[in-house]
Amino acid sequence: MNPEKIAEFKKKLEGELALVEKELKGVAAQNPKNPADWASKETEMETMPPVADPNEAADKIEEYNAHRAITGELEVRYNDIKAALQKIAEGKYGLCEVSGEPIEEDRLEANPAARTCKKHM
Ligand SMILES: [Zn+2]
Repeated sequence: MNPEKIAEFKKKLEGELALVEKELKGVAAQNPKNPADWASKETEMETMPPVADPNEAADKIEEYNAHRAITGELEVRYNDIKAALQKIAEGKYGLCEVSGEPIEEDRLEANPAARTCKKHM
């Protein structure tokens, strides 16, 4: 891949990393010992007073689970972007993690943090 194209993807990745990091900070706390690990802020369940209404309790649990799911998705995204930037730094960007073959450029356009080619999605 030509260096200009890589520079373009790098810019996209850095922009997205900043966004994902901001979103993550809103819902989770980064583990200071392991920057790849984010813990969902678990305040809601633990500080929540007992709820008499079972519907309300179910809503709360749903909300809590959704919160954790979002944290999980953002964490995966965050680590994918980090890995892609690391690969750029090492000169290995754009190679499929399964086959080692170049990832299709249109796939990288759609997702610059893609780890695999279309065949190994
Ligand atoms: Zn592949």
